[in-house]
Amino acid sequence: MLAGSRLSAPAKADGIAERAKKLHFSSIVLDTHDDTTQRFFSKNYDLGKRNPDGHVDIPRMREGGMNAIFFSIWIDGRILGPPAVQKALDQIDAVHENVIKYSKDLAFCRTAEEVRRAHAQGKIAALIGVEGGHMIGHDIRVLRMFGDLGVRYMTLSHFYNDEWADSSTDKPVHNGLTDFGKDIVREMNRQGIMVDISHVSDKTFYDALEVSKAPLIASHSSCRALCNHPRDMSDDMIKALAAKGGVIQINYERSFIDQAYKDASDKLAGGVVARFEKFKEECGEDRECFDGKMAEEEKQAVAEGKLPHVSWERIIDHIDHVVKLVGPDHVGLGSDFDGATMPEGIEDCSKLPKITEALMRKGYKDDDIRKILGGNLLRVMEQTDKVSRELQAQ
Ligand SMILES: [Zn+2]
Repeated sequence: MLAGSRLSAPAKADGIAERAKKLHFSSIVLDTHDDTTQRFFSKNYDLGKRNPDGHVDIPRMREGGMNAIFFSIWIDGRILGPPAVQKALDQIDAVHENVIKYSKDLAFCRTAEEVRRAHAQGKIAALIGVEGGHMIGHDIRVLRMFGDLGVRYMTLSHFYNDEWADSSTDKPVHNGLTDFGKDIVREMNRQGIMVDISHVSDKTFYDALEVSKAPLIASHSSCRALCNHPRDMSDDMIKALAAKGGVIQINYERSFIDQAYKDASDKLAGGVVARFEKFKEECGEDRECFDGKMAEEEKQAVAEGKLPHVSWERIIDHIDHVVKLVGPDHVGLGSDFDGATMPEGIEDCSKLPKITEALMRKGYKDDDIRKILGGNLLRVMEQTDKVSRELQAQ
């Protein structure tokens, strides 16, 4: 009794831990980027069970209060044309199959209203984002089909340039968006598919910003001012994004949030793209082999002191940087769970309540925390749908 009351004394002293828990578990906590979809094809993975590895499954989502998730559709950016479309459709179908299989826990959602309804019913909202314009196979009709299948955002490129958009991690060949790329953005507006500028080159971002009638999102990017990586957004880009109502969803990948780690990782293996390529070659399409190799290399390098430790608190630094720059309406969560190396302390989605508590300890207002946890992204979804309705009425 005595020991117990002494242990709980610090929490009672300020009450923040308790208040943060209440706020977190009553909020819509929406993550815009999870590569969990690829695990659906592994016989060792079950979305409905607690898995010993990886970052996301239903039990851990429940534990961490993550109640809205964008399952990412992703294939290697060098696969183009009909094979890219086929593989994307396989993954879209796998998301729908999993939602049916676990319909007690999951509800497939296409709109902000549906996400709110799912939350009110105690269900996890499942949404779809396509990570890379190469998956439409250079055919605008496929984009419309994706829209019909419930795709709510598309990232304009992945690590490589596609046929119509330059990537931030490839040599520019299109000077941003081609004319066809601009038509794709217009069609996304018409279909109510959010335009995602994570991964794209700076010029592609500014082109998309000019063309799009709806606000843009960065589904999983962090701040270049804190970690100078081409995958992150500069302060000027964040200001321009915010001025048009958009939102940057912070990516937790170590090399995107921590400068010392990025520098050490570049020195070690030529950066994240080079590491990806090396392991892709060794593992081919075997995702588990790939994830295993990434995790193993990481662990070894940190143990040997070749890579520095990275604390989960860097995530808070990036959120706070955006809030100081453009206010609390333009930032959210885009973890990159199951697709990136998580910082220490946020090993998987069950640890998310720590983010809410940290923001509260920084003095953030409850309403602002709710916006960051999911409200901002839902606002962009609503605006995107409004633009879509207006364009379709013309
Ligand atoms: Zn990505």
